[in-house]
Amino acid sequence: MLPTRGYATKGPTSVLEPFKFERREPGPHDVLIEILYCGICHSDIHQARDEWGGSIFPMVPGHEIVGRVTRVGSQVKRFKVGELAGVGCFVDSCRRCASCKEGLEQYCEVHLVLTYNGTERDKKTPTYGGYSSQIVVDENYTLKISPKLPPANVAPLLCAGITTYSPLRHFKVGPGQRVGVVGLGGLGHMAIKLAAAMGAEVTVLSTSKSKEQDARRLGAHDFVLSKDPTSLEAHANRFDFILDAVSAPHDLNAYLRLLRRDGVLTLVGAPPKPLEVRALSLITKRRTLAGSNIGGIRETQEMLDYCAEHNVTSDIEVIPIQQVNEAYERTLKGDVRYRFVIDMKTLGV
Ligand code: NAP
Ligand code: ZN
Ligand code: ZN
Repeated sequence: MLPTRGYATKGPTSVLEPFKFERREPGPHDVLIEILYCGICHSDIHQARDEWGGSIFPMVPGHEIVGRVTRVGSQVKRFKVGELAGVGCFVDSCRRCASCKEGLEQYCEVHLVLTYNGTERDKKTPTYGGYSSQIVVDENYTLKISPKLPPANVAPLLCAGITTYSPLRHFKVGPGQRVGVVGLGGLGHMAIKLAAAMGAEVTVLSTSKSKEQDARRLGAHDFVLSKDPTSLEAHANRFDFILDAVSAPHDLNAYLRLLRRDGVLTLVGAPPKPLEVRALSLITKRRTLAGSNIGGIRETQEMLDYCAEHNVTSDIEVIPIQQVNEAYERTLKGDVRYRFVIDMKTLGV
């Protein structure tokens, strides 16, 4: 076993603190990755505080991982020691169900092995995430990272990037379309960059007036203060597609009304409590309400390659791991531009 250092929380009301645990020795198909950077996703906070239910403690969060390969198993073909590697929200799946066979492992119908707050395929061994010194992952669930981009800015692509890229692709967003992005946080800022890169006209719908300039700098063509009913009303029946990346309770109907006939609103934000939908918000214009979960390995690689080609990365604030609890509080207050990334060498020895 490999002694590993990290930060864990012991329960929903505890803070993250130093934690020692063990990783498995890499098997024939595994790579051992020394973690360089790990992003802080709002899902880390939801799960660390058990807001979705069913959290497993102690929990080492983190699923936006970029690191360097330090060992490879005897059968590994895609990675060499010294190369950069990425790990996202899951590290394995059943590999046999229809979704796994289609490369849509994130919808595995049997057992998706989450990077943390989950169990291995034996359904017993807990998984621990990226707020740690190293991780062991099957090479087929590990992503290639281009050395062209700064690795700290790439880390958030492993969740925020793919979670926004996948629905934009699935719903065929492109030139000539009007796209709304609700919530300018970690996911929202990637959605703006990616939808703009795909050629769409992007409008940000935000509760924070202070983010207007940033929204435009990130590639948005328009900004709507969503707290202002008249501004919202002025955009009724306008959008082909809306991506909702809000982490907290909010009125979905106010945004559904902004879709044109046959428009689609996709939820990626996952507020802990149910959202209310007025049937008429959908019926009157044959609108669709959808949801989307991260992305499969193949599509995640496609997204990473797309980002390397188009020079798209995340806007980040790098922090030492000792500031992780403060970073959680600041994320909850919306005080992050636009992703915290932990520099893992600050874990020390
Ligand atoms: P984040 O950085 O905290 O951003 C969330 C944004 O939501 C905030 O910046 C804010 O934007 C808006 N917001 C927050 N509280 C609000 C409120 N009370 N009313 C209206 N708007 C509010 O979070 P994130 O990391 O981007 O994650 C966003 C959500 O996506 C989380 O629920 C997370 O769990 C979920 N998620 C889902 C997937 C998936 O696969 N579907 C993957 C990753 C994350 P403004 O200031 O612009 O209003
Ligand atoms: Zn995430
Ligand atoms: Zn499966």
